[in-house]
This record gives sequence, structure tokens and C-alpha cells, in this order.
Amino acid sequence: MELNNDEIRRYSRHLILPEVGLAGQKKICSTSVVCIGAGGLGSPIAMYLAAAGIGKIGIVDFDSVDFSNLQRQIIHGTDDVGRPKCESAKETLHRINPNVEVVLHNTALNSGNALDILAQYDIVVDGTDNFPTRYLTNDACVLLKKPNVYGSIFRFEGQASVFAPHLNGPCYRCLYPEPPPPGMVPSCAEGGVLGVLPGIIGCIQATEILKLALGKGSSLVGRLLLFNALEMKFRELRLRPDPQCPLCGENPTITKLIDYQQFCGIVPETAAAANPDEVTVQEMKRALDDPKLGIKVIDVREPDEYQIAHVSGVPLLPLSILPQRFPELDPNQQIYIHCKSGGRSMKALHLLRGHGFKYLKSVKGGINAWSDEIDHNVPKY
Ligand SMILES: [Zn+2]
Repeated sequence: MELNNDEIRRYSRHLILPEVGLAGQKKICSTSVVCIGAGGLGSPIAMYLAAAGIGKIGIVDFDSVDFSNLQRQIIHGTDDVGRPKCESAKETLHRINPNVEVVLHNTALNSGNALDILAQYDIVVDGTDNFPTRYLTNDACVLLKKPNVYGSIFRFEGQASVFAPHLNGPCYRCLYPEPPPPGMVPSCAEGGVLGVLPGIIGCIQATEILKLALGKGSSLVGRLLLFNALEMKFRELRLRPDPQCPLCGENPTITKLIDYQQFCGIVPETAAAANPDEVTVQEMKRALDDPKLGIKVIDVREPDEYQIAHVSGVPLLPLSILPQRFPELDPNQQIYIHCKSGGRSMKALHLLRGHGFKYLKSVKGGINAWSDEIDHNVPKY
């Protein structure tokens, strides 16, 4: 491949770097990368890769742009709310660099399509926000012998690495053999995230991709970089491949893709609907409208969240201090518990049940479902 005069001007600051040069820029331009997720991490990754001239960028995302994304997902703008993230991302990337081929995979990555999609690219970058997709991405990369440029973020902290057993490094399973129990690790939607944090971690991932394309520098293979934005500190952990790893170890037991929802303990939606510990927001409304039913409704979110949105008449008993406030509740009364989306209320239910409370229900979907289905005036966050 040759660079035309426009491309020589566009990439001139790369071309004059001795570590890149014309030969290096040609390597970048002939490299293909697939980005799993066009969200917080995917935004800076894809934008910088497009600007740098990566030849082909694949975007895997089935979601649409929501107002709550705009605080950090800078590949999308206010006008894009409601549009598929894939399309919005492609427009932004082509505005930055029309020479880049952008391939859209407007689908959820799953065990049925992952190998086919990832096989079309040289490098895979993990911009996911959930454990099933993270393990799926890892396993598919190991099976395909593709480097997996990993990043994750939560609140003020992030981490990054490059998983590549074929380059003598560990894989994600060597580091985390088992997923956490469902609901144990809060997501960014539950716990929040500083908007600029994915910018920092995503840029580290983009840097690692360009180094892999160039074959230059010391990559994050075998190293886990930890970042704390509040302290403004980077730390580094040495990672070694685990010989017992079920995927990349000496005697692998995982030789093909598995059911990752099941592996991560996530109950399918249809089964969850039949969960006897749950009630709907409609049932919560009935309990509030008719005091004769004798059902108490409580909110176990934190005070900051209560200030953002609450259902009037529902007292706040934050999960974090619930154990100290048992005496305020009657163990023989029927209690409906709600939180933001249904995770913490289920934790509170199990906590109270362990202390002798008999008639407990968790409100499915929490206050966000209330906002969707009962009262649009209650803001969603
Ligand atoms: Zn491994």
C-alpha cells in the first residue's frame, strides 16, 4: 500500500516520529481493530484509532444512545439520543477520518456470532460493561489467538491490560477465574462513574493498540495497570499466566465458547419474571394507594439518590445502614422493598429474611420501572 499526498499530510506528525515513520504508518493503516461496545471506553478508543489511521474499525453494539450516556460517551452527541450507537459512532469516525473503513455489527456479541465477528480483525478491544461479554470476549480471543486489549472502569478507578496467551501473557481468566456472584459488583449504572475516566482508560487502550500495530515499545502483556483518579495515581501489578487456567493453561477444559449468561449466574428474563420474591411496580402502586392492605413500602437507596428522585410517601432506609434500623420495621408486616433497578432491593430482602422477617417482596425494576410505567414525572437516572 502507498500513502497519497493527503494522507502524508494527515499523518505527518506520525511520519516524522522515528518509531513510526512511513513504514509504521503503513502498518497502522493496514491494521484492523474491532471494538466491543461503543460506549464510554469505545468512544475515545474508536475516535483516536480513526484519527491515527487504523485501516478498518469494527463496532459491535446493539444499544441506542440515551441521555445518560452523554456525560462520557463523547462519540455521540445530544442530537443522537434515540439513534443506534453504531450509526452515530460511524458518523463521528468518518467526520474525523473518511479514509477509515467502519464496519458495523449492530448486534449483541454472543457465543453464536463472536468467533465469526472477531476473526475478521487483527486486534480486539474490550469496551464492555458486563461480565458475560467480558468472559466471552476473552475466550473468543484466546481461541482465535488475537490480542485482547482490556479496560474497565468504575467510579474513580480503572484498569487496563493486554491479554494474549499467544504472546506469552495471561488471559482474563488467569486473573479472574470466576465471575463475581451476580449483583455483587455494582455496574456504572448503579455505582456511577466519573465522566472523564473512560477517556483516560480508553486512551491507554488505544495507545496499546497502536503499539501492537507498530510492534514497538513494551506492551501491557503480563501487566495490569491500575488507575485511581481521586488520588491521581497509577500502580502496576505483574501478571503471570496461570498453568491451571481452564482456557489457556496446560490442560484446558474450555475448548469452545460456552453459555456466558449462565456462567455468570444471570437468570434469563423469562425465569426472572416468575421470581416469587418479586412484585411489579403496579403491585407497589396498589400497596401505596390502598393502606388497608397493610403493606409497607420502603426505599433502600442512598440519600443522594433519594434527592434525585423518589416516590412520595415511601420512607428511605438505605441498605448501607439497614442492619441498624431493623427495630423500625415489623417482622410480621408485609414489606415491599424498592431501589433503583431491583438489585439492591433483592439484597435487602435476603438480609431482612436472615433476621426473621417473613413477608418480603423486592420491586422488580425499582424506581426506574416506576418512572417508565407509573409516573413519568419521576426522573430516571
Ligand atoms: Zn488464562
